[in-house]
Amino acid sequence: MTILNGKEIAAEVLTECREKVGTLQSRGVTPGLAVVIVGDDPASHVYVNSKVKTCGELGIHSRKIELPTETTQEEVLQVVRDLNGDPAIHGILVQSPPPPHINEEEIIRLLDPRKDVDGFHPVNVGKLVMEDESGFVPCTPQGCIHLLEKAGIETSGANAVVIGRSMIVGKPMALLLMGKGVNATVTVAHSRTRELAAVCRQADILVAAIGKPGFVTADFVKDGAVVIDVGINRVEDSSKKRGFRLVGDVAYDEVAPKCHAITPVPGGVGPMTIAFLMSNTVKAAGG
Ligand code: NAD
Repeated sequence: MTILNGKEIAAEVLTECREKVGTLQSRGVTPGLAVVIVGDDPASHVYVNSKVKTCGELGIHSRKIELPTETTQEEVLQVVRDLNGDPAIHGILVQSPPPPHINEEEIIRLLDPRKDVDGFHPVNVGKLVMEDESGFVPCTPQGCIHLLEKAGIETSGANAVVIGRSMIVGKPMALLLMGKGVNATVTVAHSRTRELAAVCRQADILVAAIGKPGFVTADFVKDGAVVIDVGINRVEDSSKKRGFRLVGDVAYDEVAPKCHAITPVPGGVGPMTIAFLMSNTVKAAGG
């Protein structure tokens, strides 16, 4: 069984990004990423801070815009309009999830698709469907595919099952897996799927993006499968200083021994997501 080390593979992606930033800077361009966060969701603040920190390490200019929970929809839209028109900013992301009174979809549609480094704007979703490489691909599924490639996993003709159909992970993951070059045969499972464990047992490659700790148990996994655990869930743990620990959607201890390869949580998909956010930002700046 191989543990797919996302930290290590992400570090290689970041090294490439750093080189491209250097080249851009020698042409007088410093890539700029704006990160907008509305409200005080603690996990979102952790993600945003680590994105900003990684920008700093690569020489990417970052601007963190923290807005209070009571910010109105129109105020957020105005921030996005300003960033769309700001030449120092090449990439914009609005951290999800915003507070419930904010309409996230309207914000995404307002983003300049050329600055939509999360790949959520309809233009970029369309380009992904069309396999038009000029678009931005959502960072998490892009990272998962890269992990599979780097680990030398045979995807062509493989049966892949993706659990989850979100716009952030499940759907783009399914599109990438079925795309030319990857060539998997893809099943997308979700909360209404019947006989879920049996469907998952067909998978040579099983991707879990559900948001439920330890949901994928050993009976979901066929011997020799490759398991990609996208989930990041906080579970209470009084033995930890911060009072919780992070676990995936996969019951790692019972699933790992059955696998050909598996991603750990943390240290699997998470670092890949940030690495491809940086890669998309460099691309947005012309790198
Ligand atoms: P989401 O809530 O938008 O989607 C969850 C999906 O799971 C839904 O499509 C739903 O149909 C499916 N689902 C829910 N219950 C189910 C059930 N009982 N059986 C089968 N399917 C079920 O979540 P999301 O944004 O796609 O995120 C999923 C997980 O991935 C979360 O834990 C999130 O924190 C994590 N995530 C991690 C990264 C990363 O960088 N590693 C990035 C994004 C999301």
